[in-house]
Amino acid sequence: MSAAARRHRPFGHWSPESGQPWVIAGPCSAESLDQVLETARALKADGRTQLFRAGVWKPRTRPGAFEGAGYNALEWLQIMRAEVGLPFVVEVGNPQHVERALAAGADAVWIGARTTVNPFYVQEIAEALKGSAVPVLVKNPIHADVGLWLGALERLDKMGLSDLAAVHRGFFATHPEPYRNDPRWELSFELRRLAPDLPIFCDPSHIAGQRDLVESVAQIAMDLALDGLMIEIHPQPDDALSDAAQQLTPERFSSLLDRLAGYIESADPVALALSLSTDREALDQIDAQFVDLIQQRQVIVERLAHRKLQQGASVFQMDRWVDMLEQREAQAQQQGLDPKYVKAFFELVHRYSVQHQAAIYQAQRRDEA
Ligand code: PEP
Ligand code: MN
Repeated sequence: MSAAARRHRPFGHWSPESGQPWVIAGPCSAESLDQVLETARALKADGRTQLFRAGVWKPRTRPGAFEGAGYNALEWLQIMRAEVGLPFVVEVGNPQHVERALAAGADAVWIGARTTVNPFYVQEIAEALKGSAVPVLVKNPIHADVGLWLGALERLDKMGLSDLAAVHRGFFATHPEPYRNDPRWELSFELRRLAPDLPIFCDPSHIAGQRDLVESVAQIAMDLALDGLMIEIHPQPDDALSDAAQQLTPERFSSLLDRLAGYIESADPVALALSLSTDREALDQIDAQFVDLIQQRQVIVERLAHRKLQQGASVFQMDRWVDMLEQREAQAQQQGLDPKYVKAFFELVHRYSVQHQAAIYQAQRRDEA
């Protein structure tokens, strides 16, 4: 299958080779002129990176951690561009950052996940960027809210910034296993549905959080047809001043790109629909049965609610819930299904059932009052 049919969604004035992803690469943080130059030279020699990334001001969770080299780092990036020839992109978190980044001739800027969450910040940044034609990348907000993500892009668009892209970097995970940030890929599909022409990059470094997982996340992003990758590269990752666990050496990055299977998008839509139709019809039938079963389940759930209320029992019965989950997970295991998937499914079913029963309790009380 040839991947050459893929056309890139436009961003900036660079473009990757046909059939290849967009690539933005560079260190989490610019730490010294030497580190910036060493990384950039290796990426330039590899030849597949369109934009060099480096954090100049770093949003750190706790104070006291390395907060970026600031204006010095902007100078290192300008030197890098003059000497190595790669355009650069930096993160901006407020209007002062924008002013300094634009003064340094940044080729693009990105808005970080901790900034996208706040419409006040995004608005201020958008206003500061107004009048420049600089390309802007918007990372997804930390929490899974596509509205905020799209809203940030719209705020920029309203200020006349039309050269935009999104970066999917995963979402806050209560249980960061195996990934540091939960990919929730369905949210980038939703963004694609709402903004079909917007390029969406994946940042597998911040999703994975550890270098051994970066490649497989990057491959998933390709298989899901995201437009490009933003990956953190450091010449000595273990000594990095931020995000040491997830950065790759330039050598490892080159071999990752060598191994990455390109886009698979050459299918003829008519032949594809035809070859999938029988299985899709079978799935439609199964799903119709699901809905029937949910309805049958609901009738029983309602009966149970009335009985529990009559008996003076509360809606939620912990023993029953624990038992139920164990049974379902054991059955999943026996039948070769992923127990986590089956558990998540029944959590949803049960959550709805509890809500519905609570509503029945309330309605009953209203009737009695
Ligand atoms: C980064 O790219 O280094 C960064 C801080 O990312 P995020 O905003 O996605 O956490
Ligand atoms: Mn980082």
